[in-house]
Amino acid sequence: MAVVKERLMDALREHFGFDSFKGNQEKIINSILSGKDTFVIMPTGGGKSLCYQLPALMRPGCALIVSPLIALMKNQVDLVRGYSSKDNVAHFLNSTLSKAQIKKVRADLTAGKTKLLYVAPETLTKQENLDFFKELEISFIAVDEAHCISEWGHDFRPEYRRLKEMIDQISDNLPIIALTATATPKVQSDIVKNLCLNKANIFISSFNRPNLYYEIRPKRKKEQTIKDIVKFIHQHKGKSGIIYTLNRKTTEELADMLVANGVKAVAYHAGLDPTTRAQRQDMFLHEDTEVIVATIAFGMGIDKPDVRFVIHYNIPKSLENYYQETGRAGRDGLEGHCICYYSHKDVQKLEHLMRDKSLSEREMGAQLINETVAYAESAVCRRRVILHYFGEHYETENCGQCDNCRNPKEKIEVKNRVVIMLKA
Ligand code: ADP
Ligand code: MG
Ligand code: ZN
Repeated sequence: MAVVKERLMDALREHFGFDSFKGNQEKIINSILSGKDTFVIMPTGGGKSLCYQLPALMRPGCALIVSPLIALMKNQVDLVRGYSSKDNVAHFLNSTLSKAQIKKVRADLTAGKTKLLYVAPETLTKQENLDFFKELEISFIAVDEAHCISEWGHDFRPEYRRLKEMIDQISDNLPIIALTATATPKVQSDIVKNLCLNKANIFISSFNRPNLYYEIRPKRKKEQTIKDIVKFIHQHKGKSGIIYTLNRKTTEELADMLVANGVKAVAYHAGLDPTTRAQRQDMFLHEDTEVIVATIAFGMGIDKPDVRFVIHYNIPKSLENYYQETGRAGRDGLEGHCICYYSHKDVQKLEHLMRDKSLSEREMGAQLINETVAYAESAVCRRRVILHYFGEHYETENCGQCDNCRNPKEKIEVKNRVVIMLKA
């Protein structure tokens, strides 16, 4: 064992320059290296990527990493390449590549130079790709952001549901590593069922993010809320933050108003052309802007360690979303201030957004919204409510890092509780 451990530590140092593993990383890596199916549930920023990147570099063959977002893929490949001296050690294969680029990727793969290949689920739906992968030595398949499999997750992708069937076409018995930061029991069981992970080693880390401060603020008139936000940003001069809003128009509006108030801010949403999106994302990563005002299209997998605040201008559509989105603050373990503005009107807006969905989707949506409302209106420790949602029991009486613990309320006010009731 000692020899194996030493070899692992050497590889960690050599490939990533880190001196120690975080949390469950070492156990997870050993599970993957032994060829077992492995299910990793670890909060955002916990270091999931390394769990498959290191074994991919150590095992013979090339690992396929399924990743839902093209922007995310480039970011990840750049990171792996940054650690390595060889550019062809990691590649991605998706619809953004030209014919010539695809040819180069394929040549590197055939020559055995590539250890990690990031693919979009769509890449695996193409038979010619599957046929090509069949001829290669594939070490294992990593399914990143595996919650995309589940309708109960915060980012359902129907193509993710077909992954198992496609993986089986590449080869029998390929080890599958599923990774997610979503730990709700429903999502977990969907992932296990869908990827047939009944025999997998499962690693669940704690979801507590002790450095994040959680706060709910009542949302009043627009001007007042903006003033409140501007004040907060000026108090955190020079720090980076994300403001999430419900729709595209509001991102632009809010960014303009912040700029008018002397804050460096840009808007980000899926309606912008890809170049502008990439530009603004880079501006944020490279500190050319203090604040990015975004819809939920922004952030998944963005690796910026020093985001100091995440403000929700509208209440998110689930507690899961809230956890994920606030999770982008304080990834370096330092301060992270999470403020959510809450009003009944915004709850109705969320409900309104579901109007065209099927009854079962609306029921599902309403349940998720009601849980978020309960969180916003609760007088107990915010951290305890969030962790309870993930099936985790939080013992500490006073976390000292949420508004309710710092300023305890007299009693729970239930009289204003809004509960969404659906008409059939
Ligand atoms: P996740 O995918 O779980 O959200 P990432 O894989 O993006 O998290 O990792 C988050 C951060 O932690 C990255 O900046 C990564 O470089 C860093 N990290 C991962 N493992 C280690 C380690 N063993 N030591 C130090 N930093 C690490
Ligand atoms: Mg990740
Ligand atoms: Zn608390």
